[in-house]
Amino acid sequence: MKKLTKQNINAIIIQILIISSLLYPLIGNKNKSQVTADSVIVDYIFVNSNIISVDETNTIHEAIAIKNGEIIALGTTEEIVVNYHTDNETTYDLEGRTIMPGIIDGHTHLMWSMLYGGFETLIGAQQIALAFGYTTLNEKGVDGWDRDIQPLLDAEANNELLLRVNIFPIHNLAFLDENNETIVVERWYPDFDPILGHDHMLRVPGIKIYADGAYGNRGLPAMSTPYSQEMLDAWGGRDPYGELYFNQSVLNETVKTIHDKGFICAFHSMGDRSTETVLNAIEYALDGATNDDARHQIEHNSFIREDLITKAISLNTIHSVRGYFPTYWQKEYEELFDDDWEEWYVNRYSLPGLGIHSYLETDFTWNVYDDDDLSSSRNIKPFLHMWGLVTRKAIDVNGTIHEPDPWIAEHEISVVQALRMMTNEGAYAVKQEDYLGSLEVGKYADLIVLTADPLTIDEDDIKDIEVMLTMVNGKIEYKWASHTFPLPYSTGPQLGFPLWSVFFIVPSIGIIIIISRKKNNKTNS
Ligand SMILES: [Zn+2]
Repeated sequence: MKKLTKQNINAIIIQILIISSLLYPLIGNKNKSQVTADSVIVDYIFVNSNIISVDETNTIHEAIAIKNGEIIALGTTEEIVVNYHTDNETTYDLEGRTIMPGIIDGHTHLMWSMLYGGFETLIGAQQIALAFGYTTLNEKGVDGWDRDIQPLLDAEANNELLLRVNIFPIHNLAFLDENNETIVVERWYPDFDPILGHDHMLRVPGIKIYADGAYGNRGLPAMSTPYSQEMLDAWGGRDPYGELYFNQSVLNETVKTIHDKGFICAFHSMGDRSTETVLNAIEYALDGATNDDARHQIEHNSFIREDLITKAISLNTIHSVRGYFPTYWQKEYEELFDDDWEEWYVNRYSLPGLGIHSYLETDFTWNVYDDDDLSSSRNIKPFLHMWGLVTRKAIDVNGTIHEPDPWIAEHEISVVQALRMMTNEGAYAVKQEDYLGSLEVGKYADLIVLTADPLTIDEDDIKDIEVMLTMVNGKIEYKWASHTFPLPYSTGPQLGFPLWSVFFIVPSIGIIIIISRKKNNKTNS
């Protein structure tokens, strides 16, 4: 018998490979033959993926078909490739990667600060947002008509809006005049109706009202108990109870006027006294109805008392929650705040767990943008906010990660709750939950592909998740700069090295090894 040398074995393997490749077109074309005669042509298909739908029960799917900007079907890879097909190699194999709905920032100043500060071009600003996975921006506080609103309307008319923008023109300015009084400007709503049509990339669903201060020339958040002199000195406050911009009766009539015109009211409200006044004004405008249709919403909720939470639940108001808590300042807060203020300060994180509609706010503006700074609570990075929501950890300017003290860690948010805050709660806040915010048949195809699955990876790794692809309205608007992503899904012989041939090669090698061992044994014995 001819001796099996190493060279002989190699030659046999190469022969098997060649024969396998030749045979493959005859027997390996299984999927293609299963495509039914009435298979529907669509624009895009993603298969072999881990699709987090964020629907009511958070169904996980494997494949999705997209046509004319809408989700046509969801299911297993088998179900989708049998019933749908694409031209131009736009059926992609995601090799197990995660897809989730596009991120909705419920409170940002990305577009406004770009227009106002000129830090980016309109297209450049959108490209940055798309690269971070945002498909909808709820712009809370758009100022001048000519400077801010008209350029966005023009951009939509010129098809230059690559993502969805919901703008909230302002009722009053964010700072106080020399007499410590608010400056009312009444943009948009006295002359125009809301723009709510779901086919618009630019909508005007509501009006922003500044109800209290923040710091410096804005005055301080309006509180029910006084600031210490130390706090007034440090934050530039005049009134020991902070600055409430409107008294109850003025705010009541303002909210009623805006409400009656069909706009959502979005209130900047940080202090507990301010939020109490705002909830009363919402109750007055609703006149016995709940907030289910009106969708009035309160931004920041920095200090919220238990009794106000009870009132919010009964009215069904909507609340923004900052993702990233500056845990590295927790000791300073503990020194400055009494027990009540500490509790009120973290109560906002309890809202999602209590079933209160709560959406993610980044409060992003360009003038605080630094891609390398992971410490800012106004960071643009959505998965840094998600990590903050889920772990309450934060990174300081030196890159040190700070663990939360018990009073910060108290109200835990699950990854699923954080996902909802970043998607369908943001859509609900602007009356778009029937069209956006989850991946369901009939909704707009706004989705992103991630480097990891936030539901299964270690919580500490959530902050490092990156976006590989962003689709808005069924169009790929951002793609990782890689020639190998995403790869077209192959149903047939075009694959260079068919996976199934492993079934031939592995047993063949096994047989060869057995033969060669037998031969060796014979010669040894
Ligand atoms: Zn803001």
